[in-house]
Amino acid sequence: MITELPHATLLDRTIQWMYNKDGARHLQLVVSASRSLTEMPRADVIALALKELGEFFPVVKDAKLQRAHVVKEVRATYSAVPGLEDKRPLQKTEIANLFLAGDWTKTGWPATMEGAVRSGYLAAEKVMDGFGSRQRFLLPDVA
Ligand SMILES: Cc1cc2nc3c(=O)[nH]c(=O)nc-3n(C[C@H](O)[C@H](O)[C@H](O)COP(=O)(O)OP(=O)(O)OC[C@H]3O[C@@H](n4cnc5c(N)ncnc54)[C@H](O)[C@@H]3O)c2cc1C
Repeated sequence: MITELPHATLLDRTIQWMYNKDGARHLQLVVSASRSLTEMPRADVIALALKELGEFFPVVKDAKLQRAHVVKEVRATYSAVPGLEDKRPLQKTEIANLFLAGDWTKTGWPATMEGAVRSGYLAAEKVMDGFGSRQRFLLPDVA
């Protein structure tokens, strides 16, 4: 058992998040904007993860790694670079009865679960507009 914590943030490291699965027999580590790892060989990524995890949970140094899997999702979300907002499409399109939802649409939020939910609310509002019903679903923005 590495830890009983359900999850942890590894501050000031390459590895950012630890999620404890299956009673700490399976740890899931997440790195967002992981550009420094894109070209890094699988074995080096695993070695780095073990090193950094061991700095927070020393028991890792004595643990025997049974299996590791590295997943690189380099196009999973867009990078929130300056000028991008103008390129994000609205939920209502030029085509009647075609509406868009997704974190990549124009929500005012970055590519997050919150942004995705807001896109769904906005799309639903546009659908209702089409029925002549000005229902509003979007919740107030975070102050
Ligand atoms: C590794 C990682 C970590 C993340 N961590 C966080 C986090 O901590 N907090 C946070 O807020 N956000 C996080 N995100 C971002 C968040 O997951 C996304 O912003 C969010 O899931 C986007 O939701 P969505 O509904 O727009 O798209 P998705 O969740 O991608 O949903 C789209 C769905 O459409 C399906 N689909 C695609 N094409 C077709 C097709 N042709 N036919 C049928 N179905 C199709 C896909 O299978 C998928 O299920 C993370 C993303 C990744 C990749």
